[in-house]
Amino acid sequence: MKKTLTLVVPAYNEQEALPIFYDEAMRVYETSLKDKVELEFLFIDDGSKDDTMAVIHKLNESDHRVHYVSFSRNFGKEAAIYAGLENAAGEYVAILDADLQDPPALLPEMLRIVEEEHYDCVGSRRVTRKGEPPIRSFFARQFYKLMGKISQTEIVDGARDFQLMNKKVVNAILSMGEYNRFSKGIFGWIGFKKKWLEYENIERAAGETKWSFWKLFIYALDGIIAFSTAPLIVSSVMGVVMCLVAFLAIIFIIVRTLIFGDPTSGWPSMVCIIVLIAGIQLLSIGILGQYMAKTYLETKNRPKYLIEEAKLKDKEVL
Ligand code: UDP
Ligand code: MG
Repeated sequence: MKKTLTLVVPAYNEQEALPIFYDEAMRVYETSLKDKVELEFLFIDDGSKDDTMAVIHKLNESDHRVHYVSFSRNFGKEAAIYAGLENAAGEYVAILDADLQDPPALLPEMLRIVEEEHYDCVGSRRVTRKGEPPIRSFFARQFYKLMGKISQTEIVDGARDFQLMNKKVVNAILSMGEYNRFSKGIFGWIGFKKKWLEYENIERAAGETKWSFWKLFIYALDGIIAFSTAPLIVSSVMGVVMCLVAFLAIIFIIVRTLIFGDPTSGWPSMVCIIVLIAGIQLLSIGILGQYMAKTYLETKNRPKYLIEEAKLKDKEVL
């Protein structure tokens, strides 16, 4: 019997892009995947406010291979990926964006690599960032550089969430049940035999990006906190350095008083020092607070997503 390939597609306000995506994925399937695998579409509607659900319902009615999960509100792409992996029926699972920035045309090659070269997972990375605002590319690059230095987990520059994996990898990702999900880190953390395909950046087929610069910035901070404790070390090191400086200053002042007497000067410098130290203390508490806040959220053990309605391979959830 043929194995099944599930395409997990997170979609948030993608009413324009979804039909184009479906057509393109079907074209690729008909031309070069049909002989090897059965197909399942699993759309994850991430609380869209436009007609995305109507589009998905229509596809579901006309094609029995189209399944979906619809969230009760917007939970974010990370939650959508988790829901997709949890509910995918296939032995193979591929994660793709709805906007065709992750070309379905790569799927046959990915499947071939997993089946014939015995890789567990085939990832994809863009080697260019053409069409992206230059500041965004700049900060993205700096982020990957920084992560490379401060995290033990390998996070590849330009890596997309677009990948095809077997059941082993799916289960490994699902076993990481954290609430604060930074997928790029999770994919690197689990290991397994992974091959990378490279391609040039492709611009969105329709609709617009859901990521503002600010959202990306917060996402980057989340990534750092989730996969590195370096900021905590930085604040400890600053504490040690400040202690050393204070110690030397005390010796200096004692010696100076013994030699020259005490003229009670140095008030402005004292204020500067107090402000500097207070600043460093607040920064350190802030860093600590970030980790505590994340720990707090994790301990609450909230569900990663809530389902409004779903139609899956063997069951219907309403
Ligand atoms: N997405 C989502 N939930 C969100 C934001 C985005 O499911 O809160 C989906 C979106 O529909 C798309 C994919 O994640 O399929 C990537 O989003 P987008 O194309 O906006 O990001 P970009 O490619 O610009 O980084
Ligand atoms: Mg996109």
